[in-house]
Amino acid sequence: MTVIAVIGGGITGLALAHRLRFRGKDAVLLEAGSRLGGCIETRQRGGFITEIGPNSFLDREPATRELAASVGVEDRIRTADPAAKARYVYTRGRLRSVPASPPAFLKSTILPLGVRLRVVAELFTGPAPQGVDESLGAFGRRHLGHGATEVLLDAVQTGIYAGDMEALSVGATFPQLTKLEREHRSLILGAIRTQKAQRKALPAGAGGSEKLRGALCTFDGGLQTLVDGLARALGPAAHMGAKVEGLQRGNEGWRVSVTENGRQAELLASQVVLATPAYVTAGLVRPLDEQLSALVEGIAYAPIAVVNLGFEPGSTPPPDGFGFLVPGLEKRRLLGAIHVSTVFPFRAEGGRVLYTCMVGGARRPELVKLDEEALVALAREELKELAGVTTSPSFTEVIRWTRGIPQYNVGHLGRVASIDAALARLPGLHLAGNAFKGVGINDCIRNAFALGDALAA
Ligand SMILES: Cc1cc2nc3c(=O)[nH]c(=O)nc-3n(C[C@H](O)[C@H](O)[C@H](O)COP(=O)(O)OP(=O)(O)OC[C@H]3O[C@@H](n4cnc5c(N)ncnc54)[C@H](O)[C@@H]3O)c2cc1C
Repeated sequence: MTVIAVIGGGITGLALAHRLRFRGKDAVLLEAGSRLGGCIETRQRGGFITEIGPNSFLDREPATRELAASVGVEDRIRTADPAAKARYVYTRGRLRSVPASPPAFLKSTILPLGVRLRVVAELFTGPAPQGVDESLGAFGRRHLGHGATEVLLDAVQTGIYAGDMEALSVGATFPQLTKLEREHRSLILGAIRTQKAQRKALPAGAGGSEKLRGALCTFDGGLQTLVDGLARALGPAAHMGAKVEGLQRGNEGWRVSVTENGRQAELLASQVVLATPAYVTAGLVRPLDEQLSALVEGIAYAPIAVVNLGFEPGSTPPPDGFGFLVPGLEKRRLLGAIHVSTVFPFRAEGGRVLYTCMVGGARRPELVKLDEEALVALAREELKELAGVTTSPSFTEVIRWTRGIPQYNVGHLGRVASIDAALARLPGLHLAGNAFKGVGINDCIRNAFALGDALAA
């Protein structure tokens, strides 16, 4: 009995099951829902291609490219339009463009002069406090000062975690920042040195900083293209409507209890990977190890609502840039908006305009409970006040994620280490997914590949 059961058909489970099969293992994917993709789903309606969850990924993760290539969709990757280069932050009463270089930052009005000068003083930041899992807010204030942290750092985390920067752990959410600090003390110095070294290592004509940052991408049919490619590659090895209800460890391996399309079944597996959300995983491991279950259950999620608003051609001017983010200190109801039709023009037919608005997050969780009509009204009011969009949309769509984005709060790294230690007591059981070591699509795929390779070895 050598079957490996992968439970949960989001991008983590899909990438993992595919990797295992690619490496010659007999992996079976069990997904409770009637479709694969988890948080990823693309819809096509009324001339718009909309996403219910993630919109894009940065093309800088080799595992993501490799996955796309191995399921035959690499040539369907689409890069963001050059018009989407600019990014905006709503601060001090209007949208202000985020400067793209240090000289541009010094000249820009994104922050008042004194606050910009305080950022330059980052060069003289003292060494990091030892053995402390610092919050993102505290880390930011130590390096950049209060003003820049409240505006810029908070905007950046809002775009990824929709979190509360006083609760998030800097080491867990932005490990690249703590690495820069460890190695160079100052983030500015570290960034300059790292970029120099990376540029040197790039072959001539490879595209400089764009190549380093990674271009923003999706697929011609939205992110669903990747999910569909994986579904095709997995074929009958992917079971939908297969809800895992329990796990038991026996002498001969693992017994996985599944309700598949209303029928009870049992699968014997040598290894089991739970690629389910943390709150599902906690329930499944509770009968095996109470302490492990409590650790996993302690991972919080921020609720988030996605409000897609589509406009007929010519009814509203196409917005410039990728979109905008709203830091918490502005006390607005919108977290930010993506100018989807500017970033990926093919996602809005014939010159239509498409905005994806984000509402709620750890800051305003109560807003996600509003009904759809109220969420559309809220998004429209906010778009009007923040971005001057006054016309009525011809298309609206609301998706409410009551448990949307895992929050890597202070203590998360220690929690993950304790989870790993507890798992060592349960040989053959593995946990994966966005709750542990990275929330981005790239993180999920990279971690799935690493686990797949380890299990196949
Ligand atoms: C609104 C939003 C916007 C985002 N934007 C971006 C973005 O632009 N770029 C980016 O890189 N990332 C983004 N993310 C993050 C990214 O989408 C997710 O982290 C990632 O898709 C999670 O994948 P996963 O496979 O780990 O989990 P999930 O997608 O949650 O998959 C878990 C799967 O487990 C299944 N399951 C649950 N219980 C059971 C059970 N008992 N038995 C069997 N199956 C079960 C579920 O049905 C689900 O399919 C966004 C997330 C959200 C919510």
